[in-house]
Amino acid sequence: MKKIIASVVAVTIAFGGLALPAAESGLSFSAAISASADESTAADFNYTVLSDGTLKITKYKGKANNVVIPETIDGKKVTVIGTRAFYDYTRKNSLTIPSSLKTIEDNGFHYFSFDSVFIGSLKQWCELGNNPECGTIFVNDVKLTGAVNIPNGTERIGDSAFYNRGEITSVSIPDSVTSIGYHAFAKCGNMMSVKMSNKVQTIGEGAFSDCEKLTAITLPDTLTEIERDAFANCYKLEKANIPSKVKVLKACTFESCGSLKNVTLSEGLTDIEKEAFYNCYSLSSIKFPSTLKTIGYHSFYRTSLTRAELPSGLTTIGQEAFYMCGSLQSVFVPKSVDSIGMWAFSAGSDDSKLFYEGSEASWIKIGGSKAFPDGCEFNVVYNYDPNHKHSYTTKITKQATCTAAGEKVLTCSICGDSYTQTIPAKGHSYGAGKVTKQPTCTAAGTREYTCSSCGSKKTETIKAKGHSYKTSVVAPTYEAQGYTLHKCSSCGNSYKDNYTAKKTVGKAAGNGFTCTATSVNFGWNKVANASGYKIYAYNTSTKKWKLVTTVSANTFTYKQSGSKSGTTYKYKVKAFVKENGKTYYGESSDTIVTTTKPAKVTIKSASVSKTAVKLKWGTVNGANGYRVYRYDSASKKWVTVSTVKDGKTVSYKESKLKSGTSYKYKVKAYRKVGGNTYWGTASAVKTYKTK
Ligand SMILES: [Zn+2]
Ligand SMILES: [Zn+2]
Ligand SMILES: [Zn+2]
Repeated sequence: MKKIIASVVAVTIAFGGLALPAAESGLSFSAAISASADESTAADFNYTVLSDGTLKITKYKGKANNVVIPETIDGKKVTVIGTRAFYDYTRKNSLTIPSSLKTIEDNGFHYFSFDSVFIGSLKQWCELGNNPECGTIFVNDVKLTGAVNIPNGTERIGDSAFYNRGEITSVSIPDSVTSIGYHAFAKCGNMMSVKMSNKVQTIGEGAFSDCEKLTAITLPDTLTEIERDAFANCYKLEKANIPSKVKVLKACTFESCGSLKNVTLSEGLTDIEKEAFYNCYSLSSIKFPSTLKTIGYHSFYRTSLTRAELPSGLTTIGQEAFYMCGSLQSVFVPKSVDSIGMWAFSAGSDDSKLFYEGSEASWIKIGGSKAFPDGCEFNVVYNYDPNHKHSYTTKITKQATCTAAGEKVLTCSICGDSYTQTIPAKGHSYGAGKVTKQPTCTAAGTREYTCSSCGSKKTETIKAKGHSYKTSVVAPTYEAQGYTLHKCSSCGNSYKDNYTAKKTVGKAAGNGFTCTATSVNFGWNKVANASGYKIYAYNTSTKKWKLVTTVSANTFTYKQSGSKSGTTYKYKVKAFVKENGKTYYGESSDTIVTTTKPAKVTIKSASVSKTAVKLKWGTVNGANGYRVYRYDSASKKWVTVSTVKDGKTVSYKESKLKSGTSYKYKVKAYRKVGGNTYWGTASAVKTYKTK
């Protein structure tokens, strides 16, 4: 069946975080013409419909530089990229993978490579398998680099998922992962550590090969299969373990792990395949599990093993299994061995011994006569009794010094087995040393040590002690701010902080006055801490303020006598504090305006008619007006006849009086200052009789 899809559907495709119309993304939806049977065609893709109703892309025919795989084609989800669906030798700019994609079949991207790949989740990337080759992976638009934490819930790491990703420095694989695929992390040349899933069951071929910076790997007990080359060429790998469910250590598992020193093989292991530890030239010792049956070809070729205590039950030792092992001193071969390959062992020295549990005849029968290459023969001890109790005597062949390790050789007086042990360097005996320079608060000191054993000297720096600040609070004065003083009790260094404001003398404020015609008496409010007050009066002729008196702290009034009546007197008050022989002044009060009362009026004369009396009185200094009173004989009260609102008007005429009648008058002057009215004393009463 061949379908031609001619309709162009409006589709937007997520690309690098931007939603671009299909046309701009470079994805062409032009009608296609070539498709095989069972295949359908839409735009740049041929596809088949899978049994679950989703699509497998079988062929990409587009030429876009930015390749976008759509989430759906013709309304169906894209889940699989078929084998060789993408086939091209030219490198492309980018690939965008839809969240629907679950599987990439073998060689799905045959020769296809990209500068960048955009994908929505790291879990999806891990589980795809056969991941396309690319320069940079963007997960949700974030560049994958550095420490990679694979999200929990990820079930597997697919084939080549992180192949050749130099940007990864470490990886954490969650416990949800049970399988790690072929070359999954191969050639991650900067990956220094791997946190392994504790539930992993299988590790694929070469999964961690060529991880040149990986230093250690810890494998969990759930692991059953490790495929060949899994850790090959991990030059920095020093430590590894093979858990007990792994029965076969596959070929080249640790090949050329030149730093491998510490490897634990668990009980349960039956076979060590060829070249498993080939060229692990730092490997100087290993304990073989008792379950071991076969040791393969070249399996320990070019290691630095000194002893090989092969377990009872071992049957086969492969060709050149321990060849080129220049340190090999002692080899123990059990009776169970029925086949030894050619040149299986090369002796480390002329004294190297091989202890065989069987007879010379059976040694020859199992291939022993060809077991050593020419010039590297062992001294074979036949009929070795594995059950005898070794009785080793120790001979120190090199004394350890402070800095250099020594050596001792242990030799069994019964069987002749001997091996060399290292005596660790003693280290210097420096004792407590001597202080040659005391540290100060800020400068380091020194301590010198001399080794009592070799005389070697070393100098140590004694850290500066740092200041021992004690704090004290200094109160403010009228001269200076207060502060907290931090002073070092050791060296005297000091600094200040938490400053508080200088003390100040408050500003005095007047609180009113009383007065007579010849005196004023004004008061002011107490100023805190004042030692006394200075009183200043304003001299109207010199136009200057003049100190009139100084009063004590408990005086809050000042009375001036002998003053002129009806006159304004201005004062100021200034508080002061005496402290430590010095006097500090506050701000002067606002001007206190006072006045004396106007003087007593003197009625001088009156002109009288039948119905009127016109009073005349003398001018009163400072008066703003006068009030004229007449005695009302009916009510027996003084009544106001008139208020003369002018200090210069000194007469008043009362009319409409009865003739031939006596009238009593008196007059008061008044003065207005600051909104208040100050009354003078009433004049003497004068009586006038109308005509
Ligand atoms: Zn012995
Ligand atoms: Zn020493
Ligand atoms: Zn100090």
